[in-house]
Amino acid sequence: SIPLSFFAGIGGASNQGVLVKGSSYLEALAETDIVVFDKTGTMTQGVFEVSGVYNNTIDKDELIKYAAFAESYSTHPISKSLQKAYGKEIDKTLVTDVEEISGEGVKANVSGREVAAGNRKLMRRLGLEYAECNEAGTQVHVAVDGAYAGLILISDLLKPHAKQAIEELKKAGVRKTVMLTGDAKNVADAVAKELNIDAVYSELLPADKVSKVEELLEHKKSKKKLAFVGDGINDAPVLSRADIGIAMGALGSDAAIEAADIVLMDDDPLKISKAIKISRKCLRIVY
Ligand code: ADP
Ligand code: MG
Repeated sequence: SIPLSFFAGIGGASNQGVLVKGSSYLEALAETDIVVFDKTGTMTQGVFEVSGVYNNTIDKDELIKYAAFAESYSTHPISKSLQKAYGKEIDKTLVTDVEEISGEGVKANVSGREVAAGNRKLMRRLGLEYAECNEAGTQVHVAVDGAYAGLILISDLLKPHAKQAIEELKKAGVRKTVMLTGDAKNVADAVAKELNIDAVYSELLPADKVSKVEELLEHKKSKKKLAFVGDGINDAPVLSRADIGIAMGALGSDAAIEAADIVLMDDDPLKISKAIKISRKCLRIVY
């Protein structure tokens, strides 16, 4: 893993909590034309509350328990919310054969039972029929021993400065803002509308996010730059592919910190426009 000290404190940017890997990224940042965001943990708090449970074959408490156990090794925000909803300590020795499928969910053996928890893509992968639910929120479908057991509806909140962060980017001359997410279309569209984000693409796997960024890179103005901002979870490939990869929150995964060109030390999305402003100021001083 790369220690944070690898990032130089350039032009005083580090005093403001903006760590830059090299001066070329500071120059690039000043030319930012398109800013692409991840949703969960970047624009939203990534702290989900369980807002509904629809059980099929087992009772509600059991449903949450199986999901929380299966997710106990995951660092995904959804996992954290399920741990919280379960509310008791989890004996991880009961959880084996854990497989996390990026952008879909997890599979694990919990006390000898095969548990899967994740989105529709995961249920389709397992060949299971699942319930549809029209309420707002992210649906975590749960299967136990190859049978659909029900869904847990969880809702995330926008970060307090999310809307202002988009406004500030526009003021700083960013032409286009785009949100990419693995989450469902209804959730993604509602967030994008609330924040006035120009374009939104949902139900994307990590690899789809890379393709989208590649597509956007072709449409940017020459000499202008595309920045991708993510909280780091599942984001390493797309952080590398963007002209400027920005990881938010210094506690992001090692893979994300390694893939990123810039690390924002806290989770405030206002730091993105601030970083652009800092870069321009630094360059004025240099030239
Ligand atoms: P985002 O693009 O919003 O950051 P991710 O790519 O991390 O989201 O995940 C996309 C979707 O995949 C989530 O909305 C969720 O439906 C599902 N998912 C990913 N990881 C998990 C997990 N550990 N448990 C349950 N569902 C998950
Ligand atoms: Mg994410």
